[in-house]
Amino acid sequence: MLQIRPNCETCHCDLAVDSTAYICTFECTFCDTCTENIHILQCPNCLGNLEKRPIRPKALLAKYPPSTKRGSS
Ligand SMILES: [Zn+2]
Ligand SMILES: [Zn+2]
Repeated sequence: MLQIRPNCETCHCDLAVDSTAYICTFECTFCDTCTENIHILQCPNCLGNLEKRPIRPKALLAKYPPSTKRGSS
């Protein structure tokens, strides 16, 4: 299951569960601005591709809550 991390690893901005975010296969997580302007759809950590993070339906968030652990630098 996706962790749905709460922040962008590059600029450390908050990412709401229903906001546009991008993740790699290891779930390194970035905001859309950093993804499009800095990383150009490539994860700087593992060099894999970044894809749009799916949005978990609101009804399932109580049972499957998003991660509150902020990603490292
Ligand atoms: Zn960012
Ligand atoms: Zn990565």
